[in-house]
Amino acid sequence: MSVIFAVPKESVVGERRVALVPETVGKLTKAKHEVRLEAGAGKEARYPDADFAAAGAKVVSDRASLYSGAQVVLRLQPPAAAEVKPLAEGTVVIGVLNPSRSLDAVARLRDAKLTSFALELLPRITRAQSMDVLSSQATVAGYRAMLIGAELCPKFFPMLTTAAGTIRPARVLVLGAGVAGLMAIATAKRLGALVEAYDVRRAAGEQVRSLGARFLELQINAEGSGGYARELTDAEKAQEAEMLARAVADADVIVTTAAIPGRKAPILVRKEMMSKMHAGAVIVDLAAETGGNCELTKPGETVDVGGVSVAGPVNLPSQLPFHASQMYSRNLESFLKLLVDAQGALITDYADEILAASLLTRGGTVAHKPTADLLAGGKT
Ligand code: NAD
Repeated sequence: MSVIFAVPKESVVGERRVALVPETVGKLTKAKHEVRLEAGAGKEARYPDADFAAAGAKVVSDRASLYSGAQVVLRLQPPAAAEVKPLAEGTVVIGVLNPSRSLDAVARLRDAKLTSFALELLPRITRAQSMDVLSSQATVAGYRAMLIGAELCPKFFPMLTTAAGTIRPARVLVLGAGVAGLMAIATAKRLGALVEAYDVRRAAGEQVRSLGARFLELQINAEGSGGYARELTDAEKAQEAEMLARAVADADVIVTTAAIPGRKAPILVRKEMMSKMHAGAVIVDLAAETGGNCELTKPGETVDVGGVSVAGPVNLPSQLPFHASQMYSRNLESFLKLLVDAQGALITDYADEILAASLLTRGGTVAHKPTADLLAGGKT
């Protein structure tokens, strides 16, 4: 038995990643599966068609040859209407389908009777770590965010002792010390900055300190379920703002990464706090796409607010497409081990907790209850 996989070229503007890289293609073709790649799909991520062909992929230039008979489509972004149309009923589509913010795409997948898996819905259990696309892409985003901060900052990050005198190190503040925040901290430390960090989960303190950064103890512990944070009460939010004010005012570069699953990002840097920041200071708001951690962030733009640069980058993993694609592809490789049995056939029983949790649509219905409720509410 073998499976036919199809990897399209992503169509969303600015998306430079590709779902599979030649390394994973080689493993699938070695296991006698067929992998078809839309010509040029890896170009932006710097994986030439020739490398895919050398790994055994069939590089095709028209959508009909890509999708005809394909059983599994491997992608990143939710498919547009024209990308759903050529797929036969029951085709499996796997990607970061962003269900709560892409209800139209969910409705399309449902109506076309496609079986879709949204990888961001994977449970964050130990067994799912190797397929955790949120973690792999957050690692990339945290790194890029700090480099953007360093680029916008008019100061050196490291302390320098030079013939022209001593240069003091930059002060970096990271708000939210989850996967992206820890990578941002590690990157700033490598560049030699003085780094402080804060998170509402006290457990994050140990990880921050292990990277050589200072953890701001703010007397709040908002550990929620599954290792995530819960939303703060109004009293806690006021306490947080008061305690963060000094650290924000002192910082040369602030990278914010705070998120609460399924909610708008919490506002941590308010307008009035920014008025105390010095000219030349920088804020890089990694939560720009989900509402922003800074009150004045504009998604996709870098704005100047009284001399403070506020960057709201979107789709940061796409700015480091080679490794972001490689990590994503390895995540998919791991996920596919659950979906393809030892005989090389696609399984159809999704009882496994990882498959059950990430199943978005199947047979004309939306399997993920919160998304089904959202769709029913929006009457899409
Ligand atoms: P996330 O992207 O949901 O949030 C980023 C960070 O923002 C979190 O650390 C959160 O505590 C923090 N935050 C929320 N509200 C805040 C506020 N008001 N002020 C400051 N910080 C705030 O989280 P994530 O990075 O995806 O992961 C968070 C946790 O989950 C981490 O502990 C991580 O180690 C754990 N995790 C576990 C697994 C696994 O076991 N498979 C996989 C990935 C992550």
